[in-house]
Amino acid sequence: VAAAALTGPIEAAGAVSTLSEFALIERFFRRSSRSAVLGIGDDAALLAPTAGCEIAVSVDMLVAGRHFFPDVDPRALGHKALAVNLSDMAAMGAQPRWALLGAALPDVDSDWLAAFSAGLFALADEFGVELVGGDTTRGPLNVCVTIIGEAPSGRSLRRSGAVVGDRVWVSGPLGGAALALQALQGRIGLTAEQREACERCLLWPQPRVALGLRLRGIATSCIDISDGLVGDLGHILEASAVGAEIDLAAIPRLATLDRAAAADKPLVRDCILAGGDDYELCFTAPADSDGALAALAVELGLALAAIGTITASGRLVARVDGVPMPALPHGFDHFRG
Ligand code: ADP
Ligand code: MG
Repeated sequence: VAAAALTGPIEAAGAVSTLSEFALIERFFRRSSRSAVLGIGDDAALLAPTAGCEIAVSVDMLVAGRHFFPDVDPRALGHKALAVNLSDMAAMGAQPRWALLGAALPDVDSDWLAAFSAGLFALADEFGVELVGGDTTRGPLNVCVTIIGEAPSGRSLRRSGAVVGDRVWVSGPLGGAALALQALQGRIGLTAEQREACERCLLWPQPRVALGLRLRGIATSCIDISDGLVGDLGHILEASAVGAEIDLAAIPRLATLDRAAAADKPLVRDCILAGGDDYELCFTAPADSDGALAALAVELGLALAAIGTITASGRLVARVDGVPMPALPHGFDHFRG
């Protein structure tokens, strides 16, 4: 893009050295191209899709002060910027291949950029993803990753295939990230151990890509839990025109949270049901897949848990000790409002 937003080269805070936009890209983001026909450095990247595959593409923006604290560990931010996008590929059952990074930076801080790119590339390497382009500008801190993946034609997972009688599954503990946020904002007291476990969920989410790939042909629908179970399962129910009954006690939670649950039950419950940012998968599968999923849980080392059943009611009902909750918490109002 034209550099109208830049008043000149982006300058280092303290202005000991200046780094041009292009030197910055060269130093922190350009690496030799491996899986792209043409990577960073031209007006566009060139990618050769695998024969017989459809392209899955998605974008997620993280804005300072909205999605993360401006003083967050930049390595964790680099990790999370890519992780939330890998999670979208996982939810689609797509193999992530390439990524683009849009970044608005208030200034150039070499240490910050080195840590940010180290966090991003560590995760990219783990998942075999290549950074093939992006855009860099001066502005309020904001990072926006576009991810491109592939799935064999017609085989990707969607939100729309849940069938009455299917079981509802989640891929791991919920509520940790939201509880970390509540603790950071002083709304709940956690032990050091609980806080560390919850902050790991908030800062270092682990995208369930391997699971998503293996759910092709098993799951009837799938979504990643970015905005909370109630809202995200709600998207599956709406897209599939069904309802669901879930049992609160069946939803996995971090082992360390049992004592926090005793201390502040409604808040912990709300975090589990409606807390965002966990990036576990929620999916549905026919009951005759129970054995296959139990085996998959062991193979992948995941705490896959069946938490309920798809119904014809068109509504989501959550039961506590068998009794339906009168009202369900909404993630957006509660945690982002
Ligand atoms: P253009 O002016 O044609 O839009 P740019 O000057 O913005 O191109 O970028 C030059 C090259 O660097 C392009 O290949 C672009 O994709 C890449 N690039 C720019 N910013 C980033 C970034 N933050 N991460 C990765 N690649 C980037
Ligand atoms: Mg150009």
